[in-house]
Amino acid sequence: MSQEDSQAFAATASSGPSSGCLSVRRCGECGGSFIIPLASCPTCGARDVAVVPARGTGRLYSWVVAYRAFDPAFETSVPYVIALVELDEGPRIYSQLVDLQTGHPTAGLRVEWSPRPRPGSDGSELIPAFRPLDGEEEQ
Ligand SMILES: [Zn+2]
Repeated sequence: MSQEDSQAFAATASSGPSSGCLSVRRCGECGGSFIIPLASCPTCGARDVAVVPARGTGRLYSWVVAYRAFDPAFETSVPYVIALVELDEGPRIYSQLVDLQTGHPTAGLRVEWSPRPRPGSDGSELIPAFRPLDGEEEQ
């Protein structure tokens, strides 16, 4: 990792999902968006990259249901949904999918950013999570 990438990573860590903020990096040259904290655009290589707030909405691209907690802190949360959400800006992000009324995820479900306290924490540490947009779930 270059020094510029290290600085980009540090900037993401202080404004990323664990802080409750959801941002993407937008290339000023090609207009592409990405999540990975790189100092240059992975598409065109330009270094004209800015961190911008994400809209916080997207679609459920894929998911898996965890029936066993891989981290003891999540033992009371099983089963839970680990989702791959495609943001409206284009990049995909792993997160939890919470507040499912039906209990059954569906591909393409419209979701919104809704970070949650990490189980077992004092509430200051957040984990990335999305929930269905109102009225978007099939009953
Ligand atoms: Zn670019």
